[in-house]
Amino acid sequence: MSSLFPALTDSPAASPAERPALRFGERSLTYTELAAAAGALAGRIQGAGRVAVWATPTLETAVAVVAALLAGVPAVPLNPKSGDGELGHIIRDSAPTLVLTAPGAELPPALGDLERVDIDVRDQGPYAPATAAAAPAAVTAESPALVVYTSGTTGPPKGAVIPRRAIATTLDALADAWQWTGDDVLVHALPLFHVHGLILGILGPLRRGGSVRHLGRFTAEGVTQELNEGATMLFGVPTMYHRLAEALPDDPALAKALGRARLLVSGSAALPVHDHERIAAATGRRVIERYGMTETLMNTSVRADGEPRAGTVGVPLPGVELRLVEEDGSAVTAYDGETVGEIQVRGLNLFTEYLNRPDATAAAFTEDGWFRTGDMAVRDADGYVRIVGRKATDLIKSGGYKIGAGEIENALLEHPAVREAAVTGEPDDDLGERVVAWIVPADPQSPPTAGELSDHVAARLAPHKRPRVVHYLDALPRNDMGKIMKRALKHD
Ligand code: ATP
Ligand code: MG
Repeated sequence: MSSLFPALTDSPAASPAERPALRFGERSLTYTELAAAAGALAGRIQGAGRVAVWATPTLETAVAVVAALLAGVPAVPLNPKSGDGELGHIIRDSAPTLVLTAPGAELPPALGDLERVDIDVRDQGPYAPATAAAAPAAVTAESPALVVYTSGTTGPPKGAVIPRRAIATTLDALADAWQWTGDDVLVHALPLFHVHGLILGILGPLRRGGSVRHLGRFTAEGVTQELNEGATMLFGVPTMYHRLAEALPDDPALAKALGRARLLVSGSAALPVHDHERIAAATGRRVIERYGMTETLMNTSVRADGEPRAGTVGVPLPGVELRLVEEDGSAVTAYDGETVGEIQVRGLNLFTEYLNRPDATAAAFTEDGWFRTGDMAVRDADGYVRIVGRKATDLIKSGGYKIGAGEIENALLEHPAVREAAVTGEPDDDLGERVVAWIVPADPQSPPTAGELSDHVAARLAPHKRPRVVHYLDALPRNDMGKIMKRALKHD
């Protein structure tokens, strides 16, 4: 099969050999050095069944994953911040034979029995770069490349088996949509154990022959500095863009740096319209949203050459078939911005199965092979997809209406006294369900009243969308991607 990383394996000594491939803080590897280090490690793990990667935000993690891909050995990235319970579940479920780590990393008891391989990123090994291109003969485009566990936002994480062709397909579709080339330099500050940070943020630039600069920890200063020093793209989750939006009014250097970026991309959850607008007003640049999942990699994006529009996730990527389906199974044909259906997708970007979960895999696909995302959306007249929320937690059936939590959250966030907002439904004798708002006030000493918030929403949306109950919190429960854990809100 063709190489996932032409710039690394086909001619590392020719094309961008001396270009930095990866930089984490002060440490970096050129393409030649990466080919050597990953190639040497690939030689050591060849033939292993599955390898776990202790996915700290380090050069070692990136080298480990590239090595596993070169060796044709499926890699399972582990979140170092997971508790022992979750790690134990993932280790039992994925049954790796080894764990790859940065030297000196302390591993928790859940990993105690695994053989450990420390990664030496300076390892030049008994390795000739050309051999890395010759992946083992048994490896095909359908071979599992990664087992990535879902974020666990709606239930225990499931291991999605991601084949090599899904990675190649999604990265090439994004290159088309974003005009992403080997000249791009990415500012990265995301964790490396999910699709966003690992596949898009590390494997993406490497497939194009470009560079990654990982900040280790996200800060507005780090973003400013990298953009001032030639970085062209920023990938972030909404909590990061929210922090940038909050910092912008007092930070003209940040505004100038963001204004210089070729591409600001947000994903993993919805970016509130309020943040979109504040960033655009201060920088003159619009954040582009893309929509994807562990199981499907990327499905839609606003295109770099398309019209950016706050509150939408753009159009299906090349090669992705997308339809909206109503509860009775009929497809939504109206592009009216109103008719809500579940997003279902088909394409070479999809995963193969949930590991050890034939039940969940079967339930996730329709008879004719479409993947049920569980996300609900409408389509605008020009085909732009607008996500209204997840079927399980964000769709409130109240008084005969189907109300999406997202638009109410967006409206609440426009209230100056609201810092964070989440909306859920709870049973109501009269309405079926009632709209409940969970608010983090901007000033805890003078929170907005429930009546004020209710009127604020009714004035912007429709009266039946007004919150009937308001809870006040110090912070919303979020997972490590900054996603709001609505299960935790509901179970309070
Ligand atoms: P779990 O499946 O374990 O409950 P999860 O669905 O959060 O967790 P991921 O696969 O990481 O795990 O996230 C995919 C989900 O993230 C999508 O189904 C969608 O709900 C949400 N999402 C991703 N990008 C966007 C976006 N741009 N706008 C709105 N939602 C998004
Ligand atoms: Mg999910």
